[in-house]
Amino acid sequence: MMALAPAPCDLVVADIGGTTLRVGRIRAGMSDVHDVQRVRTDGLGRYGTLAPQLLQDRVMEQLTREIAAQLARPGQPPAQAVAVSFAGPMTSDGVVIAGPTLWGGPAAPLPVADVLAGHLGLPVFVANDVTAAAWRYASVESEPFCLTTVSSGIGNKVFRHGEIISNEHGYGGEIGHWLVDPAEDAAPCECGGRGHLGAIASGRGALFAVRAAASADTDAFASSALAGPSGGVPGAITNEAFVAAARANDTFARESLRRSLRPLASAVSLLFTAIGVRRYLFVGGFALALGDTFLTLLGDELVRIGCFGLDECATRAMLALGENDDDHCLIGIGQLAAARLDTPQAIEAPA
Ligand SMILES: [Zn+2]
Repeated sequence: MMALAPAPCDLVVADIGGTTLRVGRIRAGMSDVHDVQRVRTDGLGRYGTLAPQLLQDRVMEQLTREIAAQLARPGQPPAQAVAVSFAGPMTSDGVVIAGPTLWGGPAAPLPVADVLAGHLGLPVFVANDVTAAAWRYASVESEPFCLTTVSSGIGNKVFRHGEIISNEHGYGGEIGHWLVDPAEDAAPCECGGRGHLGAIASGRGALFAVRAAASADTDAFASSALAGPSGGVPGAITNEAFVAAARANDTFARESLRRSLRPLASAVSLLFTAIGVRRYLFVGGFALALGDTFLTLLGDELVRIGCFGLDECATRAMLALGENDDDHCLIGIGQLAAARLDTPQAIEAPA
């Protein structure tokens, strides 16, 4: 008699960020996540006056509670494992070492996988959020790639030969904190520093720059597509209006954006020349909202800087956008967990 094939494994997946906690379900090996519950994160953005340790405690309690609720939902097959995408750097054994968007300043190292496994009684896989997002593309990209998120900040991970390249203590993938403008009054970074790539080429950084450009050149601003929506007030320019103007080929908005993206092009050129990665995927709200405009301007700057040994066509071909949805981390952490379930000795995933 032919043996029945085992049923595909069901996973509960969670993605906790500074604003939103999403908890859903995914079938191992599949790329569609379902029954996603979204709640506001009980962290810094909601209770900003509490001490970091209290915020960390709240975040962890909420994460445990929401995952337990998803596990207990009626009408669902039992889940074999839990996988969590966490917004913070972590060690190779699943200890979160910082949570700047979740609890702000220093708090105790948080062994997320161990704590959740103790409460839930299931194998738990945990990875940094950019690592999780990169795993979404691991099965469809045929060569090593660098995934970069460009939203209010910038983060990156390089994926090669089935794993993320990072240090066991959580270093690696923090190109957003590379100093690109050493001026004392350079744009502030969310880490507390100034002039970092994530402070210049992110959505927040580009907005900071276009407002400064509007203040510095009032005539050009007055004749741009940004003047109307902002009422002629530089500080009233919104990210939405800026993105719309850049996409509509407004010269003032595009040239400001081009200057902001220049150091990101330098980062791509540096990564290519240093380690030879030829595939750069961009996700994150700002990059995806700009769409082709983002790729065109970044490509222009990358061609201008040059990638040693590549012609213009090959240089532009290195850049691509990821899927335009909010599911990168949920799908990716599900893919990572499915891969790790084939090697059950690992409970926590590398950062
Ligand atoms: Zn920084």
